[in-house]
Amino acid sequence: MGRNPRYDILFEPVRIGPLTARNRFYQVPHCTGMGFDLPHSVSRLREIKAEGGWAVVNTEYCSMHWSADDAPFRFCSLWDEQDVKIQAQTAEAIHRHGALAGIELWHGGNHAQNRTSREIALSPSGSAQHGIYPQQTKAMDREDIRNLRRWQVQAAKRAKRAGFDIVYVYAGHGYLPFQFITQRWNQRGDEYGGAIENRARLLREMIEETKDAVGDTCAVAVRLAMDELMGPQGVTAENEGRAVIALLAELPDLWDVNISYVENDSISARFGEEGHQEKYVGVVKQLTSKPVVSVGRFTSPDAMASLIKRGIADFIGAARPSIADPFLPSKISAGHEDDIRECIGCNICRSTNNMGAPIRCTQNPTMGEEYRRGWHPERIAPAGGFKDDGVLVVGGGPAGLECALSLGRRGYRVALAEAGRELGGRINRESRLPGLATYARVRDWRLGQIAKLANIEVFRESHLDREQILEMGYPHVVIATGATWRRDGIGVNTHFPVPGTEGPGVLTPDDVMAGAKLAGPVLIYDDDHYYMGGVLAELLLKA
Ligand code: SF4
Repeated sequence: MGRNPRYDILFEPVRIGPLTARNRFYQVPHCTGMGFDLPHSVSRLREIKAEGGWAVVNTEYCSMHWSADDAPFRFCSLWDEQDVKIQAQTAEAIHRHGALAGIELWHGGNHAQNRTSREIALSPSGSAQHGIYPQQTKAMDREDIRNLRRWQVQAAKRAKRAGFDIVYVYAGHGYLPFQFITQRWNQRGDEYGGAIENRARLLREMIEETKDAVGDTCAVAVRLAMDELMGPQGVTAENEGRAVIALLAELPDLWDVNISYVENDSISARFGEEGHQEKYVGVVKQLTSKPVVSVGRFTSPDAMASLIKRGIADFIGAARPSIADPFLPSKISAGHEDDIRECIGCNICRSTNNMGAPIRCTQNPTMGEEYRRGWHPERIAPAGGFKDDGVLVVGGGPAGLECALSLGRRGYRVALAEAGRELGGRINRESRLPGLATYARVRDWRLGQIAKLANIEVFRESHLDREQILEMGYPHVVIATGATWRRDGIGVNTHFPVPGTEGPGVLTPDDVMAGAKLAGPVLIYDDDHYYMGGVLAELLLKA
């Protein structure tokens, strides 16, 4: 099957400064929770994105100097020649598959906690450090500003030596060059404070100096937060966001625009639709002739083509869609868009980064394990010697579906037995809760893939007990029957049953999702600390 001509526009090459991207698919910089601790894992992860057809593959935030140290969160670094060797592995891995390699040079300013380096954090005006720990930052004097500009240039030159094609000046997500732009952080009285021209001066200097340093062969990209979603208390797209683009419009080779903070940029599907950033970044292309990339958790090729045709962006920027399906561009190119493993916007990937842990993904179980376990999102090791024995998978919820599919792809003879009529388990219930409709993609993608494999037989309304399972004679049985919610109040912090929970008015999330009728005021006792309590509150409030 060939490519749908409707999507040809997505495969046009695009110039970025001295370079040409092979198509319009652009993996924007995104965290992996691995950083400099796990360099082989990082480079293999990026390599697979390049193999999957992305034209540009970027690193995560890469510290330019040890005064920007984000421990305990994991970041890359380009502090010295040893780091050049490490980062070169990633650039080389990306190039192996014909993609351009980009690197996001980062200085966190008052967001850098410097717990490893013990350096005093820098900031435009000496504010208290951003975060929950009481620390003071240093107001940058002119020498500090000169140092910062020098660190950017030195890191850019290291990036070039490491083989990167695109070098970022990073003024997004509340980090240091952005801290100079927003009046919340910048109350300086010198030429770097006051009018927006002054507050954008540092960014201008960093772009110009980076271009002078590496612009002969590298493209220089700017990542800018257009809006902080704080109204007049922060940068807004209508005012300062727009003004910064207008002032610096033709300076960089590419504008990578989004909203701040990180939590808004990668908002969960519960609170933000596909393309939700358009209203903030849509103006940028009217102000510059340089290519523009923006994100919006795009998984629909029609939405992507529309974004380009309507002149909103030149590239389809993606973090999460490229995590859920590193082969998204290749699938569209081959006319296999039905095979795209669509991101559900659950933000498990994001939350693991916030824990300082390696990335993982609800939709793509291979994410983060490409190097350590040798996993690949599109290829799986063929079955070993037990192939013809067959495997019985009991339970057709998300885990059972994934297990049956993976075994089927390996070549096993698989029987999948589901007690109910519908496959999908908890997904069927939870995807009907407010804001969680995208969770159904977990079920639907697996059902679509299972239907393509002749070696997986599905048995519905097949409630099996222990004896029946044994009678069926499968030498390998996988139990994937899931769990139910406790009714006795025991949770994360409560270790004994809560008195009174045995009463008739006490319900579990399972009861509510099954349609239990509630009368009168409702108290939700949430010792789970995750999404269920909040989602049920929303559901019950609406009812
Ligand atoms: Fe992240 Fe969830 Fe999307 Fe995977 S499916 S990329 S974990 S938001």
